[in-house]
Amino acid sequence: MSESQRTKVALITGAASGIGQALALAYAQIGVAVVGGYFSGDPHDPRDTECLVSEAGGQCLMHPVDVRSADQVDAFAAVALERFGRIDFAIANAGLLRAAPLTEMRDEQWFEMIDVDLSGVMRTFRAASRHMSEGGAMVAVSSIAGGVYGWENHTHYSAAKAGVPGLCRAVAMELAPRKIRCNAVIPGLIETPQSLDAVNSLGPEGLLEAARGIPLQRVGRPSEIATLIRFLTSEDASYITGQAIIADGGLTVRWPG
Ligand code: NAD
Repeated sequence: MSESQRTKVALITGAASGIGQALALAYAQIGVAVVGGYFSGDPHDPRDTECLVSEAGGQCLMHPVDVRSADQVDAFAAVALERFGRIDFAIANAGLLRAAPLTEMRDEQWFEMIDVDLSGVMRTFRAASRHMSEGGAMVAVSSIAGGVYGWENHTHYSAAKAGVPGLCRAVAMELAPRKIRCNAVIPGLIETPQSLDAVNSLGPEGLLEAARGIPLQRVGRPSEIATLIRFLTSEDASYITGQAIIADGGLTVRWPG
């Protein structure tokens, strides 16, 4: 069997919901096998992702992983190797979002956010990079919060998400000699459990209101970020590395007023 005929394998953190789940399905649709991470502390049922993928005729193994733990992330990558013998794509998608005003921000809140949303990306890429095949690709999920805009009451989230494109640029340079590419995606407002949380994010009503200010007049679907990530890991993106690509319905280029 030639290299191009082998089943490719994608590692995805945070794959039990939202963008991560949509990505598992998007990979299944093109025959890429998925090893998806789920966080046991959240109520999402990992079997939902497994069912979606298997209905699409794909292969998916869901495995518990907390990206705050280097041991768990290393074990997650080892599972992919044991089950499928290779890792082609590593997607650092897991993310935590909490609201906290700066004046009341406790150090523990700050460090937890950085631990999940920035250090978690590094741990995922570090574990995968030790085993990844030449020609592989990595993508991390940043946000327009921090990646472009400032967001009040979200200093910690914004700082972590602003760090993600910088991390990706450095990884892109370090792994280029191995022909492994690394990029970030910067989603705008996407309807997922995270953005539907009215306490820490916009909530359903806030999303509806925000949609009116988006040039395309709607919030995004998880599948629209998933297909961007899938594109960035595909051969069609073979000359793109070290970039941060925004998908936001035109929100960040809108003329003010
Ligand atoms: P989501 O809440 O459905 O997905 C986030 C996933 O991360 C969940 O499955 C959750 O269980 C997992 N997770 C949380 N803490 C974890 C931990 N410690 N270890 C492992 N997994 C953990 O929401 P989503 O919108 O699909 O989020 C996916 C990514 O997209 C996140 O990084 C998020 O910050 C980013 N993002 C989302 C939006 C949006 O509008 N929804 C916008 C910009 C960026």
